[in-house]
Amino acid sequence: MIVIRVPFLWVDGMALFPFVLVRTARPDAVLLHHERIHLRQQLEMGVLPFYIWYLIEYGLRRLHYRSHYEAYRNISFEREAFAHEGDLSYWKTRKWYGFRRYL
Ligand SMILES: [Zn+2]
Repeated sequence: MIVIRVPFLWVDGMALFPFVLVRTARPDAVLLHHERIHLRQQLEMGVLPFYIWYLIEYGLRRLHYRSHYEAYRNISFEREAFAHEGDLSYWKTRKWYGFRRYL
């Protein structure tokens, strides 16, 4: 994982395989782990398919929930990352395409 600080980033962190972009100089371990899970998702899907799927799923969930925040939190990639971001060894034992459990 290659961490790059981007002070003008509009979110706390963003995975863009093989990089993790972060806004602050000292991102916490949970944030970095959350982004590491997204790197795994991107590695198995490919970065472009990941983001295409992400946007399509966001759009569908936005129609369903009618809320940006609820739509974002319920994207399968985010569900997996939020569910396991506190377990710092999850990425080591995670099965490929683990996000499918959160569809
Ligand atoms: Zn995320």
